[in-house]
Amino acid sequence: MHELGITRNIVAIVSDAAKGRKVRRITVDVGDLSGVMGEAIAFCFETVARGTPLDGTALDIRRVAGRALCATCRSEFEQASLFAPCPCGSRQFTRLQGEELKIRSMEIEGEAA
Ligand SMILES: [Zn+2]
Repeated sequence: MHELGITRNIVAIVSDAAKGRKVRRITVDVGDLSGVMGEAIAFCFETVARGTPLDGTALDIRRVAGRALCATCRSEFEQASLFAPCPCGSRQFTRLQGEELKIRSMEIEGEAA
């Protein structure tokens, strides 16, 4: 499963950044168009984190809906899939959000949130 590798990466990156400090919570942005299932990351997280500095860390997955700006009618529209056209029928658009997969924040124990 592809999400298992991603979860391992997240745990490795955050463990490294924490430099031995306890991490209370991390927030990860997962775009609806990223091809990654937030639920699957949440499902693997506890197992992957066991025995690492992230053991017991809370994980928040923030879903980011797909949105694009149409080049034809200049309106913003929500996209359910990568190549979904604008409601006006145009397939010329610029993606605004929805493809992200990133660690948005981490809360270190003993530091102000
Ligand atoms: Zn349009």
